[in-house]
Amino acid sequence: MTDVLSDIRAFLARERELFGDALLADTDLPGDSIMARSKSERPKPEDEPALFELPPPPTPPITDEPWGSSQTLGALDGLICTCMKCPLGRTRTNFVFGTGNPAATLMIIGEAPGADEDAQGEPFVGKAGQLLNKILEAIGFRREDVYICNILKCRPPGNRKPLAEEVDRCIPYLRKQIALVKPKLILALGLTAAENLLATTESLGRLRGRIMEYEGTPLMVTYHPAALLRNPNWKRPTWEDVQAVRKLHDELVAQGR
Ligand code: URA
Repeated sequence: MTDVLSDIRAFLARERELFGDALLADTDLPGDSIMARSKSERPKPEDEPALFELPPPPTPPITDEPWGSSQTLGALDGLICTCMKCPLGRTRTNFVFGTGNPAATLMIIGEAPGADEDAQGEPFVGKAGQLLNKILEAIGFRREDVYICNILKCRPPGNRKPLAEEVDRCIPYLRKQIALVKPKLILALGLTAAENLLATTESLGRLRGRIMEYEGTPLMVTYHPAALLRNPNWKRPTWEDVQAVRKLHDELVAQGR
């Protein structure tokens, strides 16, 4: 009993540290996601909206370059880590491939490596990464349970926004990573990831709380942890988003989709 109480105390302390004093347990989930409602509240099957908002677009082949036939993430990394397809290849310290469970059911996609990631060769290891770890823990994932990567594999100088040409060169690598990991759900962090995966110009405020998809994989969007460090007002909506992500993830896993 004492153990249970101290677990609950530790959990609440962590929630307060992350999300402030608001009571979180009874949070209404955002949007009108069918996943956000309990089974008894859900519409009957004939009224039920389609799981995804948009029909899946045809998926073009990734590449006919040798890395396209890699069978493992390690093999892929080995073939692409010396990439010089864009000028960022000349300024990077390390190619930041991605990290985590190669069979993860949840894949987290950020924007691009920052200074810490460039120095260490691993995504989300700086301050934003530490916050991401706490957010994941709050919904019951360890960092090593999920797969974490970025739209770009190399750091843009001064952490500027990725250029369209850089994204065009780099995103096929991400598509191959997704094809190898086969996550049940993708969580895009921040507008740059969302814009590039969804080919949309909608605001993050309009994209969050919705179930979308990237080439057939369900995808949800939330604020980037670096943005949360600058604007704590976004912590509460982020908490709502990640709860919805956990719920949908568990449903997709249970359904074997
Ligand atoms: N921000 C990102 O988008 N990705 C990282 O890996 C680190 C910070």
